[in-house]
Amino acid sequence: MSVEMTRRTFRPCWCAAGAFLIVVVMAAGCAKSGTESAAPTSTTKTQLDYAIAIHGGAGTISKDISVERRTAYENALENVLRRGVEMLEAGGDALDTVEAVLRMMEDDPLFNAGKGAVFNHEGGHELDASIMDGETLACGAVAGVTTVKNPISLARLVMERTPHVLLAGPGAEVFADETGVDRVDQEYFFSQRRYDAWRKTLEKKSEAKDAVRGTVGAVALDRDGHVAAATSTGGLTNKRFGRIGDSPVIGAGTYASDAGCAISATGKGEEFIRNAVAFQVSMLVELQGLDVESAARQVLESRLEPESGGVIALTTDGSIAMTFNTQAMPRAAADSTGRFEVLIW
Ligand code: ASP
Repeated sequence: MSVEMTRRTFRPCWCAAGAFLIVVVMAAGCAKSGTESAAPTSTTKTQLDYAIAIHGGAGTISKDISVERRTAYENALENVLRRGVEMLEAGGDALDTVEAVLRMMEDDPLFNAGKGAVFNHEGGHELDASIMDGETLACGAVAGVTTVKNPISLARLVMERTPHVLLAGPGAEVFADETGVDRVDQEYFFSQRRYDAWRKTLEKKSEAKDAVRGTVGAVALDRDGHVAAATSTGGLTNKRFGRIGDSPVIGAGTYASDAGCAISATGKGEEFIRNAVAFQVSMLVELQGLDVESAARQVLESRLEPESGGVIALTTDGSIAMTFNTQAMPRAAADSTGRFEVLIW
């Protein structure tokens, strides 16, 4: 069994009250491999000042990937996580943080969101994103947008400037015109890797070996004790007929409630929609008092088929769950105790 890549830097953080240093002893990260069960990573129980987790999509990544590829994932996740920590450390709010880190991931062609989004059946790109504020339950989403550089920011504007939750297709583009968000042409989203994967699918050859789907998500807890969640994706390779997955569906791919948890999902969207995964996990925390990892594991194990995907979730005490039933889910987590870890398998 190979060992997960884990990086930790310890930077003690004092509470605002200045009185107590919170020391959390965390279990050593266990190596996880195989695909048979949801793979958790450590949670904490103490009230933390801030915390953040991100994911880069659940799927298959061979442990034999090249060093360059592995390093690319690790560096990308580390940079994004560092930015999130900087913002939260400085007192930034959870909503701003999840939006900012998702914009970074949307701009990175490594991930299936924004630049580097997968190809649909027609050889184009249709992007979905959603964001939710755990304090107020305010939320916004866009689906099937084709010219918006950072769909997560348009989703936030849906939340803040309209009475609606989800805008789709041409209507969302008209809304984008009115907001002045950055626009691009379809060529901007091109990446050779996604193009090759699409051609392979079209030719009905086997799925690419490195088939992590690459959706991105983030959950954060800020110093005011509020959580937020965000998810952004290009969806599934070769999707047709205006197909929309779970990522822009509040309660399926994204949910946030201070009373429950903030959660972002990745995987086979139809499965996550059918099972209202994000909402169910949050409700198990809120109504049944489950810790967030048990809640996430319970929903994944009892409701989802093997190889469906995974979630990252976070409660207002700073407990983080990163659970998946696929071979891999590039992910990273950090908090105010100095926890800072980047993991792939
Ligand atoms: N959940 C996304 C969708 O179904 C894809 C993914 O997360 O890989 O659109």
